[in-house]
Amino acid sequence: MTIQRPTQRLTTPRSLIEAGLAAPERLQELEAVAERYAIGLTPALATLVQPGDPADPIARQFVPDARELIRDPAERDDPIGDDAMSPVKGLVHRYPDRVLIKLVAVCAVYCRFCFRRERVGPGAGVLSSAEFAAALDYVRAHTGVWEVILTGGDPLTLAPRRIAEATLALAGIPHVKTLRWHTRLPVAAPERVTKAMARALMAEGKTTVVAVHANHPRELTESARSACRRLTAEGAMLVSQSVLLKGVNDDGETLIALMRAFVEAGVKPYYLHHGDLAPGTAHWRVPIAKGQELMRLLRARLSGLATPSYMLDIPGGRGKVPIGPQWVRTGGGGTHLVTDPRGGEHLYVDRLEMGA
Ligand code: SF4
Repeated sequence: MTIQRPTQRLTTPRSLIEAGLAAPERLQELEAVAERYAIGLTPALATLVQPGDPADPIARQFVPDARELIRDPAERDDPIGDDAMSPVKGLVHRYPDRVLIKLVAVCAVYCRFCFRRERVGPGAGVLSSAEFAAALDYVRAHTGVWEVILTGGDPLTLAPRRIAEATLALAGIPHVKTLRWHTRLPVAAPERVTKAMARALMAEGKTTVVAVHANHPRELTESARSACRRLTAEGAMLVSQSVLLKGVNDDGETLIALMRAFVEAGVKPYYLHHGDLAPGTAHWRVPIAKGQELMRLLRARLSGLATPSYMLDIPGGRGKVPIGPQWVRTGGGGTHLVTDPRGGEHLYVDRLEMGA
């Protein structure tokens, strides 16, 4: 298969096929999936696809697959329970000290494993001015809110002017100290992460965090790294988000390379998500036991600086927790069996717990 390096964003089955990213005989399959879920692939990511590799880890993340139409009984339209925790449109208040505001429902790329796949897509829109004002009123009225997470969709798809308006409005709330933006744009369209956009995320006296989503080390190209550097140059703290995906990054060497690539781009590895129970995503999920085994390997091979936490968003909106592996087993009388990074076990006796 020959890949025609695209210059435009690919949004239809036919455009994926014309770009050489899917075989022509898959048109019907791709169209059936596209009726349900949006397609989006930017030139920056399409260019990374290796020609002739049907299992290419970049292509697989964005090219539809018939298995997306198979629903596992455990899967839910709203896998992490946003709706039940949403007091006003576009705002989710799950934890006491932070809220999440979904500014937009569109993304530059549409990941086939997206946890909000039933909510995002073209036409799903932007939070209106009145809806954003209502979200601001809610944050103002809840003085315990220390952090606001801007998400979507991908909020960095907005123009810098719109981003600056949101930043300034939130920064004007005294008890809000941290603004965290969740985005895939530094890897999906690094050229759009301009100095002007980076500046639009900043506000005097507030901390700006950008959570950069990437799943394979090839996504951290030199252009993507430059985009990250533009964000840090303006003062943003960068952290990573990745999803553990079967066939993309569920092997030790790929995960090690991904985490090192993040650090080299100035991004602190933060979360490795266990796949959420979004509809039609069973083929992406990896057993938790395997995820824990991979985390053991990362702990043995990487510095703490490059090691993320392996996280599960408990279905139904119960919150996000690290799911191991466990490094300590607690016995009675202050005894603990601690596992070292190479797997050896050691007795640790806590004299404080013994009452000594
Ligand atoms: S960028 Fe995030 S919100 Fe957008 S499709 Fe991918 S996972 Fe979903």
